[in-house]
This record gives sequence, structure tokens and C-alpha cells, in this order.
Amino acid sequence: MIKLATVSPCYNEEPVLEDSVKKLTEFFDGLVAKGKISKDSMMVFVNDGSKDQTWDIIRKMHNENHYVKGISLAHNSGHQNAIMAGMMVAKDWADAVITIDADLQDDINAIEQMIDDFEEGYDIVYGVKVSRTADPLLKRMSAEAFYKLQDRMGVKSVFNHADFRLMSKRALEMLAEYDERNLYLRGLIPLIGLPSSTVDDTISERQAGKSKYTLRKMLGLALDGITSFSIKPIYNIIYMGILFLLVCVGIAIYVIHALIAGTAVHGWASLMLSVWFVGGVMLISIGVIGVYIGKIYIEVKHRPLYNIAEILGDEE
Ligand code: UDP
Ligand code: MG
Repeated sequence: MIKLATVSPCYNEEPVLEDSVKKLTEFFDGLVAKGKISKDSMMVFVNDGSKDQTWDIIRKMHNENHYVKGISLAHNSGHQNAIMAGMMVAKDWADAVITIDADLQDDINAIEQMIDDFEEGYDIVYGVKVSRTADPLLKRMSAEAFYKLQDRMGVKSVFNHADFRLMSKRALEMLAEYDERNLYLRGLIPLIGLPSSTVDDTISERQAGKSKYTLRKMLGLALDGITSFSIKPIYNIIYMGILFLLVCVGIAIYVIHALIAGTAVHGWASLMLSVWFVGGVMLISIGVIGVYIGKIYIEVKHRPLYNIAEILGDEE
């Protein structure tokens, strides 16, 4: 029988938290009754610097519900870092950790299959979204386009998987060795390379509260997802440069031809256009290289990903 921990990041989740704990508690009770998980399994809630009553609710739940444990980060560190904090703490408490968003949009019934796969010897079990009809159309389309783009850029990730996954203690200990600052777990975890499987996950609608993933945060995650794992964009710049040189040769041939034929005109327009066009391309190129240098800069600083201010339930 395994000792299970769920890890749920919470950023201003006051409207859904109590309900989620209730649902998970019923579910845990069921699994305990079936003998699938041990009685001292737990649900760990990571308060990611919420501005509302989230931490007070977690604290209250911890006092009332023996499953509930809490971690409070000192400030808002973002979804990925909050999950990482939760996993790194929970790996010392449990045999396996399942990360699931606090709004329980993922299908909690998939957890049972995850546990079965874990018992069969898989260290990592990915929840893969089979139906995203509950996600807004725009989100669905942008996400799928992003997964495809990532794939073309050579980032190995699991299609339509978004941080709903089980990881064994062993896998988590290995993950701890990846000392990344620009954290993109979906790209990082496949690099661990332990046996993995997938289970189907049907997404449901958010019960209450708003999505905390603003367009800005999503874009940031997408950029991290590619620039943290792939140097293909730099190669593409080089290829673009070669193409430009070829075009340049073509133009030169044309100009020589025009000179010989005596049809050359004073090409003010073409000159101006080229100057601006080349200038733009160079700016973009410098920008992309700048992104990588920026990452080196952040990486060498070695700042902690998170600072835990308080931990509830570390008695044992
Ligand atoms: N979240 C977090 N820190 C943040 C933003 C989000 O811990 O800065 C948590 C949030 O509480 C939720 C999960 O990340 O548990 C996913 O966020 P949300 O449900 O708002 O995103 P969506 O499902 O719309 O992509
Ligand atoms: Mg959600």
C-alpha cells in the first residue's frame, strides 16, 4: 500500500479551496477503504503568496482534516515554482506525489489508474488531456499550437499534458538534481528518463473563481518552454543569414546585368527598403540571442526558486 501525497498550488483560491478539499477527502477515504493508499496519505496545499484568505483556509483545514498539510511560500513565485516547492517537500513525506491544480479541473478519478501504474513499476505517470472541451476555445487552440511548435523546436514533452502527473520518490530525488531557474517542468521531467506511462484525463470547468493564468503568464511559460530547452532558434537565425546572402548575390548579378545593358536607374526606393528590412532582421536576431544571454545571466545568479516561510504538518 502506498503513502500518497497530492500537491496543489494555490494562488488566490479562496472560492474553490474548501470544495476541493471536500472532494479530495471523499476520494481519499474511498481509496483508503479499498486498500489502495495508506491512511496517513496526505494532500499538500502550497500557498503561492495569495492575497486573499487562502492560507487561513489551509490552516483551518489542517486543524480539522488529518489529510491536509500546508506550505506557504514567502511570495508569489508562479505555478511552476509552487509545484516544485510542494514536490520537494512532499517527497520526504510520501512514496509518490501527484500534482493537481487546486481547482480540480483535472479528473481526480484518473488518480486511481495512476496509482495502479505506479504499483506496476512506472516512476512517472502523465495525465494526458483527452477532452479539452471545457477549456475556452482560444486557450485550447493556443495550447495545441504551442505543443506542436515546441515539438518542431525539438523540445521533448508529452502532448496535451499539463502538470497533472504522478512521480515516485525516486523520480523526485532525480528532479531535485536539475538545478534550473527558468523552470518548465513539462520539458524537464521527460529528461529524467525513468519508466513512464500516461493516463486519460478529462478536463472539467473551473467550479469557482477565475483562471490565474493570465495571457502574460501563459506567454511567459510558452517562451520558457522553448528557450529553456532548445537552441534551434539560434540555428534558424544562421540559416536566415545564409538565405539573405544568397538573395544578395542574386541582386548583385541583376545589378551587373542592368549596368551592362545600360538600364540602371537610381534605386532610391530599393535602397531605403533594404536598409530598413535588414535593420529589422538584425534587431530580431540580436533580440533572440539576447534572450539566451538573459537566461545565462539568471542561471548564473543561482537565486533560490522559492523561500518557504512556514510548513504545517511536519511533526513526523
Ligand atoms: N497558480 C499558482 N501561482 C500562480 C498562478 C496560478 O500557484 O501564480 C495555481 C492556481 O492556484 C491553480 C493552478 O496554478 O491551482 C492553475 O491555475 P489556473 O487554474 O488559474 O489556470 P488554468 O487552469 O486556467 O490554466
Ligand atoms: Mg485551472
